[in-house]
Amino acid sequence: MASNYYGNIFMVVAPSGAGKSSLVNALLAQDSAVMLSISCTTRPPRPGEKENEHYRFVDKDEFIRMRDNQALLEWAEVHGNFYGTPRDRIEQAIAQGLDVLLEIDWQGARQIRQHFPEAIGIFILPPSIEALEARLYARGQDAPQVISRRLLAAGSEMSHVSEFQYVIINQEFSVAISQLAQIVAATRLRYATQAARNAHLFSQLGISSTPS
Ligand code: GDP
Ligand code: ADP
Ligand code: 5GP
Repeated sequence: MASNYYGNIFMVVAPSGAGKSSLVNALLAQDSAVMLSISCTTRPPRPGEKENEHYRFVDKDEFIRMRDNQALLEWAEVHGNFYGTPRDRIEQAIAQGLDVLLEIDWQGARQIRQHFPEAIGIFILPPSIEALEARLYARGQDAPQVISRRLLAAGSEMSHVSEFQYVIINQEFSVAISQLAQIVAATRLRYATQAARNAHLFSQLGISSTPS
């Protein structure tokens, strides 16, 4: 990989239950050039969630230590728990030209944009509030009071949709995953990525591979 090639950062944001994790997992299964950032969280693991696969589960003291040691690229309190993106793997991955996907909330997305203004923001909307509620119950992994809290927060989270370049309405899953893949594909065709990845061709063609 060319040393001047930097991977893209994709931030996938949605209210709980909109289908963020399902879409992200489907994308990872079909695109090996995308790396998922594993967040740290103080939330307890759900049944079936594995350490270092879904999250790094830490206690509050450890989270605060990481945050104070600048080990987190961003962090936020969401639904009463702390969540944060570890810095080291992301910086290494994009320097190697890998695209990195962050499943974070809107507050985290704001912080990432300050470090990486080129980061791509993708907001996932449910087809209706009723569908969102039905999906949270159907997932069957959160207690009823946790689900109520997440549904109550959905409106204020969705009010941030205008801060994102792309919006996917996750009604038909197959349509939504194809739309997510199209966004990733189009991003890879941006001038900066193409020029860095094809510097040799650009030079043979006598055109600039440095942004003006
Ligand atoms: P989900 O909403 O069902 O995916 O539930 P989670 O408990 O996995 O995530 C809760 C919230 O925390 C979501 O809004 C996530 O996008 C957000 N989140 C997860 N990881 C991070 C992170 O590293 N940083 C930030 N800022 N938010 C995160
Ligand atoms: P999030 O990560 O945004 O909280 P999930 O990916 O866990 O959401 O999805 C919530 C639930 O909705 C899961 O049970 C998932 O299988 C289901 N789901 C996701 N997308 C769709 C869809 N398009 N149609 C129906 N159910 C869906
Ligand atoms: P859950 O507890 O359902 O896994 O996640 C709840 C919310 O926390 C989701 O909106 C999720 O995107 C967000 N979240 C998860 N990891 C992070 C993170 O590292 N940073 C931020 N800011 N939010 C996160």
